[in-house]
Parts: sequence; C-alpha cells; structure tokens
Amino acid sequence: MDVVDPLAAIRERFAVDDGVTYLDGNSLGALPRGVPGRMAEVIEREWGALRIRSWEESGWWTAPERIGDRIATLIGAGPGQVVVGDSTSVNVFKAVVAAVRIARSRAPGTVPREEVLVDASTFPTDGYIAESAARMTGTRIRAVAPGAMAAEIGPRTAVALVNHVDYRSGRLHDLPGTTAAAHAAGALVVWDLCHSAGALPVGLDAHAADFAVGCTYKYLNGGPGAPAYLYVRRELQPLFDSPLPGWNSHADPFSMAASYAPADGAVRGRVGTPDILSMLALEAALEVWEGVSIEAVREKSLALTDFFLECVEHHVPPGAVESVTPAAHAERGSQVALRCRGAGEVMRELTARGVVGDYRRPDVLRFGFTPLYTSFADVERAARVLGQVLTTADGRL
Ligand SMILES: *Cc1c(COP(=O)(O)O)cnc(C)c1O
Repeated sequence: MDVVDPLAAIRERFAVDDGVTYLDGNSLGALPRGVPGRMAEVIEREWGALRIRSWEESGWWTAPERIGDRIATLIGAGPGQVVVGDSTSVNVFKAVVAAVRIARSRAPGTVPREEVLVDASTFPTDGYIAESAARMTGTRIRAVAPGAMAAEIGPRTAVALVNHVDYRSGRLHDLPGTTAAAHAAGALVVWDLCHSAGALPVGLDAHAADFAVGCTYKYLNGGPGAPAYLYVRRELQPLFDSPLPGWNSHADPFSMAASYAPADGAVRGRVGTPDILSMLALEAALEVWEGVSIEAVREKSLALTDFFLECVEHHVPPGAVESVTPAAHAERGSQVALRCRGAGEVMRELTARGVVGDYRRPDVLRFGFTPLYTSFADVERAARVLGQVLTTADGRL
C-alpha cells in the first residue's frame, strides 16, 4: 500500500523519521522541514537586520490576508474571505457575535430570534465562548446533538455553532445539509473546522457557508499555538460587524483616527498587531501542500482509517476495544477513537513503546491519521503494538 501511495513522497517534507509512529497530528502536526530555515531567515534578516522596514518590505503587514488566501484553497474558499490571526477561541467569539448581529439585522419574523444552538458534543471552548456571546447579545444557548441540528434550527434560531468533525469521536457532521436548513430558516451557521481543515474537502463556498473558524496547528502543521483563521462569506462581509474592532481592521489604520471605520473584506476580521513569528512559521509550513490535492488527502485518509480498523481487529484481543468512530465513510473524519478500559495507562504504555496517539478522559484512545506523513506501515505497527499492550496488560488494568 505504501508503494502505490501517490502521497508517499510527501512524508520527506516532514521531520518524522525518528523511529516513532506519530498518530497525534490531530493535536499537534509534525514539523515541516522547511520551517527552521525560514524561521532563521525571518529572525536574523527580517527582524534582525531590516527591523521596522519588514512590516512593508518583508510583507509582514499583509501576512494575515496572504496566508488566509493560502488556507482558503484547502477549505474550498475563494480569495479575500479568510484572515489569519488570534486563537480559534477568539475567532469563535468574533463569528458568533457577528452572526447573531447579522441574523437580527434581517426583517423580523413572527417570533424573536433569541437562541444560539450549540453542538452538544462540542470542543469545550466553543461552548464556553458561545455562552458568553449569547449573554452579551441577549440570546440564549441551547445544546443540540449535531446530528439533529438541521431539524432543530427554526424561526427562533439566530445562529448554530457546529464542529465539522467531533474532536473526540472523529464523527464528520453534515455541513451542506445543516447549512441549507439554517438558510431555509433565516439563520446562520458558524463551522469549527479544527479537525477537518487539511484532512478532507470542506467546500465552504460551494455550500454557501456563512462563517468558519479553525486552528492551524493540527492538520495544517503550523506549530504549537500557531494562529487560527476566520472565514466570512463574501456576501456577508459588508454586514460583518466585528465585536473586536481593533485598529488592524480599520479602513485606514495609520490615520490613527479617533473614530472607527471598518475596512472592507476579510481584513475586517483582524484585531491587533499580528503574531508575525508564528504566522510566518505557518506560512512556511503550508508549503508542504505544494502539488497536493485535498481530494487525494481524503482518499488516503479513509484508506488509512479503514486499514487501522482492520489491523486492530486482527491484532487486538476481541472485546478489548470498541471503536466510537463511525464506520460509514460519509461520517468519518481523519481519526479513529477507541474506547478501552484503562485508556490513560494504555496510552502511556503505547507512547513508551514509540506509538504516540492521545488519551481523552474517561476512556478514549485517539489516533489521528495525517495523510501527508502517515504511512500504512505506521498504521500496522500502531495496531500491532496496541495488541501487544492490551495482551500483556490484560487482567492488570
Ligand atoms: C483544537 C480545537 C480548538 C482549540 O481552540 P484554541 O483556541 O486554539 O485553543 C477549538 N475548537 C475545536 C473544535 C478544536 O478541535
């Protein structure tokens, strides 16, 4: 399978040949080999020698939009709709508040748009931020199972906030259907792409998504704490009223004007001075996508997760683990989550034996598959070592 894998050669673009089977790229992507050299150049030449001139001459000032346009190609968005900066948490705040404001600016229905629906299994930060955003905008949050989201969106809904792929189970949620249902009801959807961007085609423009946010340190390999991004569909941009209108989003930032006038386009999602070092590390990391199609990545991702499930069945004692990741391809992201007794201890033992995934309380082993650098041999080894750990640990756990 590795011999016929069209993406096999891309692995050389990453620093991963250390004898460790790394299946945690859904938490922190591996280091692309081009990043250290580029960072040395940024620090020594752009910062060290050019200093303040680099804001213009090295393209620092426009980096958030430039890198946003690069990410846009991976999530099915045309140029001018994605801006990079801040964390996913902060971008969830901007998107939810702005989406509520847009929903409420529309002609009122027979009932007030007073609720924000939140994916009941969401990554916690999205729920915490949405709850605060709801209080600030005079709406209420209601948790809804993501599979029921399309049916639950109604005339009272201002906004639905949904994780495209569930961080724990790896379940892929229905972006086209949920978005269409929201639009039919006059509501908007904010998609969190943390576990889908870089792993599968998202099609934001094709499905007329409203807002999307995502991080860049998982499948986009931008490095620890790399800045996140915000997508605002072009038609909504004139209505986008950011709750964090910092000077970087001003129509003329260097006028240093006392009153705020928003810039047009994705720039409106900026807040303050961008974190240039992290942002340029991300830009260098995105070069690994040169010549790679996201469709090919998806195809390999499904083959990797299928093969892992097959190997687990072969190597792991019957009944020792149970997959909570959907078997259907249409509902699967790029990870496999296995429920297992003593999962925390099992993952410590796997890591000690050179197979790195992660553990989510109370009983989930998570294995992320990054098609750019995960090989089929990695997958077989991970399942085999898991089988060994569960065989020797049996009775002890
Ligand atoms: C990883 C992840 C986040 C992380 O948010 P940060 O602000 O970068 O810490 C948020 N949402 C989801 C769904 C995630 O998977």
